[in-house]
Amino acid sequence: MLTAIVGINWGDEGKGRMVDLLSQEYKIVVRYQGGNNAGHTVVNEKGKFILNLLPSGILRDDTVNVMGPGMVIDVEHLYNEVKTLREGGINITPANLKISDRATICMPYHKLLDCLEEDRLGDAKFGSTRRGIAPSYSDRYMKKALRMGDLLDMNYLKSRLEGIVEWKNLTVVGGYNAEEVTLDGCMEWLEKYGGFFREFICDTTEFLGAAAKNNEKIMFEAQLGALRDIDFGIVPYTSSSSTIAAYAPVGAGVPGCKLDCTVGIMKAYSSCVGEGPFTCELFGEKGHELREAGGEYGAATGRPRRVGGFDIPASRYGVMIQGATELALTKLDVLSYLKEIPVCVAYEIDGVQTQSFPSGDRLKRAKPVYEYLEGWCTDVSGCRSFDELPEKAQEYIRYVEKAVDCKIKYVSVGPDRDQYMVLD
Ligand code: GDP
Repeated sequence: MLTAIVGINWGDEGKGRMVDLLSQEYKIVVRYQGGNNAGHTVVNEKGKFILNLLPSGILRDDTVNVMGPGMVIDVEHLYNEVKTLREGGINITPANLKISDRATICMPYHKLLDCLEEDRLGDAKFGSTRRGIAPSYSDRYMKKALRMGDLLDMNYLKSRLEGIVEWKNLTVVGGYNAEEVTLDGCMEWLEKYGGFFREFICDTTEFLGAAAKNNEKIMFEAQLGALRDIDFGIVPYTSSSSTIAAYAPVGAGVPGCKLDCTVGIMKAYSSCVGEGPFTCELFGEKGHELREAGGEYGAATGRPRRVGGFDIPASRYGVMIQGATELALTKLDVLSYLKEIPVCVAYEIDGVQTQSFPSGDRLKRAKPVYEYLEGWCTDVSGCRSFDELPEKAQEYIRYVEKAVDCKIKYVSVGPDRDQYMVLD
């Protein structure tokens, strides 16, 4: 049984907590794309954990976690993440963490180039998290990236890095007039942080291929939502990887496998970090109240998130490109303070209303068409079944389900492990 858990919106939908919840049934959890440019927050009986690189299954005792070839890994960040989790009592060993020898290493010069370019762009910046993700993926396509497996042969790695550093300095020094990157500096960094992971690095394709053949239950965990996908998202304000479910088997390293199930995580309202078109955005007091109610501040960066009502055109599109077979609606409890719940039912572009999600400049010109549904004004965080929810909350769930045309199977009403319900 191969299941992907993916985001339907702009990210921060609560994927981490849903993976934490659903991973109980899975022996293996795999991250298949991205780097430490986003964060999952998981709250369980051991405490509150922020995961940027590690798969969420790492918090469960019997789960094997895989970091797939589709990922870019900043080994210094991973080193610190592992250290923090171990200090929090989480057991991390080569038995429960396997890192693909094909995954790309995100180097300090990638971070540097990310920052230099964002600074150069000034007001036209992409809103990068400045963690070197785009430059790492670019180098991968240029065939000039180092891979985790290279750490197993430092002589070979050094011979490759020599040429790469020379090439990097053409841009760093020649283009940006910044301080040159040194081979020794890079080697030292790689040995200190990358060397730590040698025993975790293996052929995860072999491992997962065998597990899939054995009909084991494998979960693929996405980072960032559908609208941040490099091809189908709000280009260029996207991530630099494929966040969609269809990429999961490829990025996980088992391209021949097919998904059996795709669970889309969709938030009961909208939030978005950084730049780019966000049609349903609410401003002023309305936006402020929703941001505070939902605690909408980035897990990786602490940046305040932009917020809006549930966005039907964007969410329907997200469900479609993810090929979601079922949905989890998260953070329903956050809307309890509202007498009237704002829902963006359509976009208006050049005076014409549409329910389709546009691309390019049409998206930038889109204006939200808002309607208001009656709120329930009751605390729902203690509800554990659909029947326990107030009628207006039930109506909201059914309304959203119909609008995006996909079954809502789970509803979460709080960040704790047991604050959710399963719908028939
Ligand atoms: P992810 O990247 O998709 O995992 O999302 P984040 O971790 O950035 O954001 C989800 C945040 O919402 C975390 O702080 C969660 O603990 C919290 N959260 C998840 N589900 C719920 C919920 O149903 N209600 C509330 N109030 N908070 C939730």
